[in-house]
Amino acid sequence: MSREANLERASELLCRAEHAVALTGAGISTASGVPDFRTPGEGLWEKADPMEVASIHTLRRTPDVFYRWVRPIIAAMASAQPNSAHQALADLEAIGQLKAVITQNIDGLHQMAGSRRVLELHGHVRTATCLQCFRKWPAEQVLEPIRRNDVPRCAVCAGVLKPDAILFGEQLPADVFGMAMEHIHQADLILVIGSSLMVMPAAKLPALVHANGGQVLVFNRQPTYADAFAAATFRGDAADILAELAQACAAVRR
Ligand code: ZN
Repeated sequence: MSREANLERASELLCRAEHAVALTGAGISTASGVPDFRTPGEGLWEKADPMEVASIHTLRRTPDVFYRWVRPIIAAMASAQPNSAHQALADLEAIGQLKAVITQNIDGLHQMAGSRRVLELHGHVRTATCLQCFRKWPAEQVLEPIRRNDVPRCAVCAGVLKPDAILFGEQLPADVFGMAMEHIHQADLILVIGSSLMVMPAAKLPALVHANGGQVLVFNRQPTYADAFAAATFRGDAADILAELAQACAAVRR
């Protein structure tokens, strides 16, 4: 199908959907300079296995190793700005055409773009928790020491701090996942953006929407399993297409 035909089909489906949701992954934030640390072969990340080093076990046993590895990621997130794909999703929510963003990202860029209903399946880095006394600290308590290559510690008990992102080896936040599932059960359309759908349980969400009779639109550089049943797939940069879709739906609503 040509890009135009694909775009027309996607806009028809999205602009008349009653409960559209988006599922976003690392690919939506790479244009904002946030590295996709799960993708193998990406510069310094190819030297270590993320599942090992970015795990709760490594943080507990060798916090210096953990923080040396996550330092560039956290630093990139701290200075990142949302791009036009984040903006398009915020615009769609503002006109009532998107009910929620379910994200695998921890960078907070959806909220920064203006999205209000964001379900962060893998947590976030806005706050951190002391592994010893469980006090919560703002991001700056982590950022300041890692700029000096130090391990972030609790100002009260000196315990090691853990960013409130879900590390490998930890459970997903059950309350957030429950809210995401409520949207998935109601969804008549899901936009999959920048996720290769390899990480469970987020990976199964498009299949659930499809099984309920909903439509699936995929925006990702690599093929995904959901392409097989998607109403339209877009391989290139998602930002332009999403902006066009948001404009099309805004025009319909006017
Ligand atoms: Zn503490």
